[in-house]
Order: sequence, then structure tokens, then C-alpha cells
Amino acid sequence: MDETISRRSLLAAIESDPSSTDELQIIAKKVHAQFSGNLNGELADYIPELAKVPANQFGIALGLPNGRVVTVGDAQVPFTIQSISKAFTYALLLDMIGPDETAKVVGVQPSGDPFNTISLDGRTNRPFNPMVNTGAIAVAGKLRELLGADAFTKILELFGQAAGRSLAVDEKVFESERETGHRNRAIGHLLRAADVYALPVDEVLEIYFKQCSILVTAADLAVMGATLANLGNNPMTGKRVFGLNAVRQALSVMFTCGMYDGAGEWACKVGLPAKSGVGGGILAVVNRQIGVAVFSPRLDSNGNSVRGQLSCAKLADDLGLHAFDALNHGSSFLRGML
Ligand code: GLU
Repeated sequence: MDETISRRSLLAAIESDPSSTDELQIIAKKVHAQFSGNLNGELADYIPELAKVPANQFGIALGLPNGRVVTVGDAQVPFTIQSISKAFTYALLLDMIGPDETAKVVGVQPSGDPFNTISLDGRTNRPFNPMVNTGAIAVAGKLRELLGADAFTKILELFGQAAGRSLAVDEKVFESERETGHRNRAIGHLLRAADVYALPVDEVLEIYFKQCSILVTAADLAVMGATLANLGNNPMTGKRVFGLNAVRQALSVMFTCGMYDGAGEWACKVGLPAKSGVGGGILAVVNRQIGVAVFSPRLDSNGNSVRGQLSCAKLADDLGLHAFDALNHGSSFLRGML
């Protein structure tokens, strides 16, 4: 059998025999080695604390629905989750109030604008989608209204449940975000004026800045991704974190809007729902199969990790992960009926 096809059946083999994750480790190591010399891209510097991160760190982690996590390189180094948090707060809101009420807060359309654009969808007077700042701040405001003064504590707990361990905030990054986040504050006021919430803007922004400043490792992100892949249940703890409908919608919006202005190219090259953050993380998810997390803080002009994108594309090729790769097994119920 050709090598590519045998790799494509690797994930299915791991489900029945967890010891075959060794082969996955070899593939991840090769991908890491292939791109480790690529030092293209620059650190995000619009938040002063982010510019202080050691630029050449590079880690890959793969989380499987059997609870195993395969790691290579700097996969245990903490970094701030930044915009990857947006996917998880969106899933939380969907779980709490369902898609119809959530649609009154934020849409599901790609915006075609940079992530920090100060504008709303003219048709709805609501943010285009939850993966841009307007949408994520609207979600933070709604969560603050629903969860009260403890909202951030509850969000942090939920992220910890998805990662399988308690997480914490990088206080310096949080302070740096708060001191320099004037565009985000402007967005907060725009949303307040549009009656998305009726709260003091600073209370909403505090949640948003804190959620961006949560520290994770690539290994944590891989487990968070595996939780989404595993129908919302954390495969390490066995606990339900998100409901099925929330996972489905969050992954759908990640697919169309998760990679800043590179979302279209990403959909063609990698073909997976994903979210990136300016801290250098990328999380991609394959339904029922795997959470792929890469940390490498040098970013391209779209704000996406350079080595993160290359690694995800190579892993997607080697493992046959692209959603529309006709050679994939897929997860369809119909398959069993053919
Ligand atoms: N804290 C960042 C901001 O809103 C998040 C940016 C990102 O990762 O896209 O400016």
C-alpha cells in the first residue's frame, strides 16, 4: 500500500490500539524538524508584552480522543491564548442561550475586514462573526450579563475543564492589553451604543482582555481541541464540557472565519476548522479524530504563526486530514451503510 494511504489509516488504527501513537510521534517529529529552521515572520508587537516573548520557540502537540497527547519541541511552554479564546467563549455562549439568541448578539458571516476593525454588519447592526474583535467583545459582554460579576472566573474554569487542568492569567500581558487596548475600548463603546449589552464598557473589556491573556501550552490546546473533536467531552477527564450543537456551530464558524484574512487560503490548503492567536498559537480540529496545536510566535502579515501554518498544512497532508480530501474516511454515519 502506498505510504500516504497507510498514514491515512493511522488515526483509525490509534483508536483501536493506543500504542500506535508512537508512529504519530515520529510523524510529528519529522514535521517539527522540517520547519524548525524557518525563522520567517515577526513577533506581534502592538501589545508591548508580546514583543518580549522568545521568538524562536516552536512546539507541536496532537490530542487524540483516546486521551493521549503527542508532543514535540516547546509543547509545554506557556503562552497567551489570545484570539483562540474566541472560539471557546462563543461555544460557551451557544451552550447557554442557543443559536437563535446568540444570533441576536453576533452573526456567522466572514467579515473580509482585519480582526480589529471597528464596524458592524450594516444589515444587522451586530458584529459579523465571533472570531473578530467586535464579535468576541460582544460575546464577552453577553457572558458578563448572563454570568454576573464572576463571569471571568467561570470562563477560566471552563477553559480549564477543556484543557484538563486549571489555567491562569498572565497578569503582565493582561495589564499590557488593558493599557494599550484603545481600539478594543472603541469597539466596546460601539457595541454599547448598538445595545448589544447595557454594561459599563470597562467591565466587558476586562473579561475580553483577561480571556486573551490566559496562559496555555500547545499540549493544553491540543487537549482543548481534542475536547471539541470528541463531541464536547474532554477525553482525559471524561467530563462533558460543551454540548454537541455548540461544538458544531463553533467549528463551522472557525472553518470560515478562524484564520484572520488568511481563512480562504487556509480552507483550501489545510481544510480544517481552526483558530489562531497573535500569541503564536494555532489550534485545528478534526471532528472525532484529533486536536492539532502548534505554538511558534513568529507571525505573517495576517497575524498567523508562520511555522504553525506550515506544520498544520504538512500534518493535514501526511495524515489526510483535509475535510474535502476524497481519500479520507470521514466520520459519516452513512459510511457504515455502504
Ligand atoms: N488581545 C488581542 C486583541 O484583541 C487578541 C488579538 C488576536 O490574537 O487576534 O488585540
